[in-house]
Amino acid sequence: MWNGRRRSALTVASAAALVAALAACSPTSAAPTGTPEPSTSRPQVDQPTTITTPTPTPTPTPTPAFDKERLSIDDPASLWVVVNKLRPLDPADYQAPDLVNVPVPQVNGSQLRREASDAAAALFAAAADQGLELASQSAYRSYSTQVRVYNGWVNELGQEAADLTSARPGHSEHQTGLAIDIASVPASCSLDQCFGETPHGQWLAENAWRFGFVLRYPAGATSITGYEYEPWHFRYVGKELAAEMRKQGTATLEEFFGLPAAPDYAG
Ligand SMILES: [Zn+2]
Repeated sequence: MWNGRRRSALTVASAAALVAALAACSPTSAAPTGTPEPSTSRPQVDQPTTITTPTPTPTPTPTPAFDKERLSIDDPASLWVVVNKLRPLDPADYQAPDLVNVPVPQVNGSQLRREASDAAAALFAAAADQGLELASQSAYRSYSTQVRVYNGWVNELGQEAADLTSARPGHSEHQTGLAIDIASVPASCSLDQCFGETPHGQWLAENAWRFGFVLRYPAGATSITGYEYEPWHFRYVGKELAAEMRKQGTATLEEFFGLPAAPDYAG
């Protein structure tokens, strides 16, 4: 009796193993994702050696995808605000908060928002470590200051040419307190495209992102940004965004955030 029962049990176990092996090969046997394998009354048997469990490939911990919506691109007080000829500041006479004097050599008195100022100080210090002394040419400009600056360019160049080099009031990044025009000491090619060829301009283009700044008006992007190449104009966006743009090789905020090109004012 004992031997007979034993043989019978082995036969059942072999049949169950065969069913299990066939089920494992059947494309229809996949359980819906998330559905736990039901606990059945199937007898527990040792799996035949022909059934092998695939060795899981070790996967690196996935890097969380960059969240492009973490900060607003519309709020003028946001570090990610995108201001261009189609995206004026709202309100147009927005007053940037927490402005401080930037503790760096200055051509003109320069203010930035505190976080951008701290980052600029670190950027300038790192440049000085490389023997490259920098100065702030211009930083925060109020709405009323931009009125004077823009009107001055219009009087000198005419409106069409002025619009390529100076923002209309309410459309300037300088009004956010997050943009700075940088010059070399001694001055060379200040506010001129040849600044990009100087050691100072080249170092800035290569390293500003590490301090949270982007070269806002790169060469060849006038049809997107609305401005000619300005190798001196840097915009603080924070280290996270600056590093992501660098990593993705995206040159402009418009492209990064999938915004329409802003070659000119709407009207
Ligand atoms: Zn500028």
